[in-house]
Amino acid sequence: MNRSPAAQRRTIVIAGGGPVGLSIATLLSSSSHTEDLDIRLFEPRQVPSWEVDTVDLRVYALSRASQSVLENLGVWKTVAAARAAPYRRMQVWQGEHDARIGSLIFDSSEMGEPDLGHIVEDSLLRAQLAGALAHTNVKLTFGVGLTAIDVGERGVDITMSDGETLSATVLVAADGSASMVRNLLKMPISTVSYAQRALVTHVTTEQPHAETAWQRFLPGGPLAFLPLNDGRSSVVWSAQAEHAEALCELDDVKFQTELQIASGGVLGQLGATVERVSFPLNAAHARRYCDSRVALVGDAAHTVHPLAGQGMNLGFLDAAVLSDVLIDALNRGEDPGDLRVLRRYERQRKGDNLKMVLALDALHRLFQISGSLIPPLRAVGLSVINVMPLAKAVLMRQALGLRDDLPTAAKPRIA
Ligand SMILES: Cc1cc2nc3c(=O)[nH]c(=O)nc-3n(C[C@H](O)[C@H](O)[C@H](O)COP(=O)(O)OP(=O)(O)OC[C@H]3O[C@@H](n4cnc5c(N)ncnc54)[C@H](O)[C@@H]3O)c2cc1C
Repeated sequence: MNRSPAAQRRTIVIAGGGPVGLSIATLLSSSSHTEDLDIRLFEPRQVPSWEVDTVDLRVYALSRASQSVLENLGVWKTVAAARAAPYRRMQVWQGEHDARIGSLIFDSSEMGEPDLGHIVEDSLLRAQLAGALAHTNVKLTFGVGLTAIDVGERGVDITMSDGETLSATVLVAADGSASMVRNLLKMPISTVSYAQRALVTHVTTEQPHAETAWQRFLPGGPLAFLPLNDGRSSVVWSAQAEHAEALCELDDVKFQTELQIASGGVLGQLGATVERVSFPLNAAHARRYCDSRVALVGDAAHTVHPLAGQGMNLGFLDAAVLSDVLIDALNRGEDPGDLRVLRRYERQRKGDNLKMVLALDALHRLFQISGSLIPPLRAVGLSVINVMPLAKAVLMRQALGLRDDLPTAAKPRIA
């Protein structure tokens, strides 16, 4: 065990029990320093639960790197056994064209990989991660959020919504895109509002989804069909805010007709849908990820357009890097809340995250441009990439989240 001789007890508080906050708690609790750490996690929502009979509306397309994080956390097997749908192909095309013309197709078999990733439900992820934490020294408190912070030189005093106060060596803000921690500390953030909302629902389809993630770029925003393992597809339809709201209000038959037209019939006749909800869309990037004693992770640090389904994948990498940095500081006998330590995390993640925020913003804008020449050029662009093995391989490695410099917790396990 690699512990400094004068190991001192440290309190690490995690604000937010979304998948990112729960992952950091699990990674820290499984380190060799667990006995020196008091780890507390606060989440205003109630204890997460997953229903075997109902597929959660909120699903994520998790990359292979995210899967490795979950394998290293010891929860992947149970998540996969409960309900995770592999997607082996991805087909992207633009609205003005037929899916058979000018499509960009990624196929995992071209990379010698079994799949491109899995579609996993939010509630399943949170329930499994919280369940795994029940057997550790992490104290989880549900139904309680953070309300006030006072950062001092040696620690950060935190007040919770139930009146509890505590002092921590490090506060990890995993409290989502509207992060209260970031707001209370006035940490600056650049935000672009897309004036769009993403409508989410599940649908039955006449043609099998063929374990393919389908995405059509329409003038109002991208429409995606993600394969579920009960044969249905999860729909994520990004549209101008008023259009998305109007679509949510339609009766089932009218909505199915609209969805059928928007899909271009790629999955044949569309059948029953379930409840519809919509989320506002924006892109945001915190100008700094840390202050002394405080680190922002996941959506608290960055929010991306869901068109490439990358938000959660970025958050898992943040969790893996931050836990590596904190554990490394403890190994060296350093104060993990020292700004110099926390900046190591920022240096490793900020550039990559910013690149993704900007790339997805650019892609979103590219597909919003209208005019007589642009749509044919986009179609040519997609089909040209489709026949360029090298460019495709680079894009596919990105989608899989495969790269050489992954943090420890995101590296595949060697059997
Ligand atoms: C429509 C849509 C589709 C998406 N699809 C994908 C996809 O396919 N793949 C993908 O990778 N990403 C996807 N994303 C992005 C993904 O949802 C986010 O990136 C992800 O949820 C971020 O996780 P998080 O744990 O950082 O934040 P969240 O999941 O937002 O969790 C933050 C938690 O903090 C809690 N909290 C709030 N305030 C406080 C407080 N004061 N104190 C303590 N806790 C607090 C909240 O209750 C919440 O549980 C999608 C997003 C949208 C909108």
